[in-house]
Amino acid sequence: MHQPPIPHLAVTDPDIAGLVQAEARRQYEKIRLIASENYVSPAVLEATGTVLTNKYSEGYPGRRYYEGQQNIDLIETLAIDRAKGLFGVEHANVQPYSGSPANLAVYLAFLRPGDTVMGMALPMGGHLTHGWSVSATGKWFNPVRYGVRADTGRVDLDEVRDLALRERPKLIFCGGTAIPRTIDYPAFAAIAAEVDAILVADIAHVAGLIAGGAHPSPAGHADVISTTTHKTLRGPRGAMLMSTAAHAAAIDKAVFPGLQGGPHNHTTAAIAVALREAATEEFAAYAHQIVANAHALAEALIERGFDLVSGGTDNHLILVDLTGKGVAGKPAARALDLAGIELNYNTVPFDPRKPFDPSGLRLGTAAITTRGLTESQMPAIAAWIDQTIKAVDDETALGRIAAEIRDLLAAYPMPGWSPAP
Ligand SMILES: *Cc1c(COP(=O)(O)O)cnc(C)c1O
Repeated sequence: MHQPPIPHLAVTDPDIAGLVQAEARRQYEKIRLIASENYVSPAVLEATGTVLTNKYSEGYPGRRYYEGQQNIDLIETLAIDRAKGLFGVEHANVQPYSGSPANLAVYLAFLRPGDTVMGMALPMGGHLTHGWSVSATGKWFNPVRYGVRADTGRVDLDEVRDLALRERPKLIFCGGTAIPRTIDYPAFAAIAAEVDAILVADIAHVAGLIAGGAHPSPAGHADVISTTTHKTLRGPRGAMLMSTAAHAAAIDKAVFPGLQGGPHNHTTAAIAVALREAATEEFAAYAHQIVANAHALAEALIERGFDLVSGGTDNHLILVDLTGKGVAGKPAARALDLAGIELNYNTVPFDPRKPFDPSGLRLGTAAITTRGLTESQMPAIAAWIDQTIKAVDDETALGRIAAEIRDLLAAYPMPGWSPAP
């Protein structure tokens, strides 16, 4: 049953209701290792499905362009105060529709078209919105890119500093979407200070780990902190921009009216709920368990001869280079999906293959940790991955693995859905 239940949807639109149930079952039956995904709580699901979706609220609490904000102002203020408390920041804007528009708002706040922005290259683990060529941020600004060292798989901060001194970016992004190692925020802050750049810490992936004390925080180091709310933070699809008080007005103006219209109030409420959940002892334990699971999974994969970029992980994320296994990322990811393990193919640094058919796989442990899996299950997951990689075309073998995985997961309840008894 879907939790909260969806009886009206089932009557009004059985097509969509049926697909929602099918998607819920799919999420229930698979080991979900997509590093940017999670399972939100029923409370977060409930908040996203409320009448708050009916309301327009352009502006900010106390300064709106529409009447009737008696309740919405209180909801948004709660979300803001919880974000400030949880992350220890002076200012928070909870209105960005998602991570990409949040980052675009940062450009709008601080740059003019053609200005120089420095970020990690996409194939090295950065995000599209850090100035990659196909993104508006790479077309309308002048991007310069750092990467990781070929020998260590890690960012070399001396290289970053040299590039910054040479190119004098106005904005520097640190963080990314496929970085298995801890981000050194103080070092980035020192470089930004030296070249008088604004430092943006994009914590979209590690926000939940930071909230739970399982990754260092950029607060006090970065001028601006950008995050999605739906990855390790385990909230609804959305984003937040946080900053020092000095940049508060510029950030707010850039989000609205610079880039967006009315905020999505149902999402704002669900963000507030997720932030409240993330401030608990249970969530701190969850964040540490995510990292413990990633360590255990990385070790089990290494034991089976998998080559991990940078040799392991400090966070929730593992990047596997399959080159030595003689199979490319895409066919491996497709076979794994058939075998009940969902993840994504990914470029690895210095990948000789094309981005649409790269050499690697990206794995993350946020969702399986929500499900209740611990270190003791990680060797079995590594074994299933290994068996699948060796049998990508063997449908019988893949079907057998998928059945074994369904058996295992039946013992671990999924927030938001359960099969009929
Ligand atoms: C996911 C992600 C984003 C973008 O988030 P969307 O909500 O998908 O737009 C931005 N930056 C980083 C580092 C991310 O991982």
